[in-house]
Amino acid sequence: MQPSTARPTRDLVRRAPKVLLHEHLDGGLRPTTVLELAAAAGYRELPESDPAKLADWFAAGAARGSLAQYLEGFRHTIALMQTAEAIERVAFEFCEDMAKDNVVYAEVRFAPHFHTQQGLGLDGVMTAVMKGLRRGEEDHKVKVGVIVCAMRNLSSMLSYQMAELAVAWRDHGVVGFDLAGEEAGTPRSTTSTRSSS
Ligand SMILES: [Zn+2]
Repeated sequence: MQPSTARPTRDLVRRAPKVLLHEHLDGGLRPTTVLELAAAAGYRELPESDPAKLADWFAAGAARGSLAQYLEGFRHTIALMQTAEAIERVAFEFCEDMAKDNVVYAEVRFAPHFHTQQGLGLDGVMTAVMKGLRRGEEDHKVKVGVIVCAMRNLSSMLSYQMAELAVAWRDHGVVGFDLAGEEAGTPRSTTSTRSSS
């Protein structure tokens, strides 16, 4: 018998259990959550105040084809993920959104040091993320692993610190370590040379 070459319907894809191996914690916030966090934090730099328009703005940024430009959108989401409460909420909602799409296992990545701008320590950031994820996993039938990101455009000292953080948390939800960011202009060797100079 010939295997079917018919494309699966949208509905079938939606209903099928899925695995998602590359997703950014700070790249999938609900527009309504972004607006609520901004209101609570008194953050006034968002380009839109309407959830639908804000969603369009983020989508347009993601479609521009340049990683550097795409990362612009992260400036806002990262600015709004600086407290344990905000981070935990985003992590919890991540699980909720995964479950809605019938994702049964997801690996979500983020750079912990981006979330320490208001004094939250690295372990505080990790604790908040894990708290939100564990609660989300329990409430929704989904399993989530965390990938700790270092940034290739920053110092290798910091990358080393992030690698150590990943190892420290490996029995508590971390499944990997990633050297993230724009590859053009910052090969790994450059990154390591820079910090030694
Ligand atoms: Zn990515």
